[in-house]
Amino acid sequence: MCKWGTYKDVKLAYPKECSGRTVVPVDSCIAKVIQKLNDEKIYTKGCCCGHGKSDPDIVIDSSGSNEDIMKILNSIKEIDNRNWKIIQWRIRIVGQSKTGLEDNIVPNNLWYKDK
Ligand SMILES: [Zn+2]
Repeated sequence: MCKWGTYKDVKLAYPKECSGRTVVPVDSCIAKVIQKLNDEKIYTKGCCCGHGKSDPDIVIDSSGSNEDIMKILNSIKEIDNRNWKIIQWRIRIVGQSKTGLEDNIVPNNLWYKDK
């Protein structure tokens, strides 16, 4: 855990959507993990170490499956034994059919696509 405001630069595998930046400051005690994931071409959208109040977390791309999440958690475990949380924002289209709910997660590269 590090004090709020202690950062280390991480080189991202993909530029930030909003700013286009490819190097971002990350809470210093999780910078190694975030750099490892980016070196493995995992798209990290945000993260926080929890600053001793909660577990560290990472926001990942909305299209990541449960398998992708397990890969990320296993990769983290190789170098950090804290109880990491993975956060994912998703747009889900949910409708009702005779057999129950029909559920469709929309990959975020399609969120703004013109029809
Ligand atoms: Zn920290």
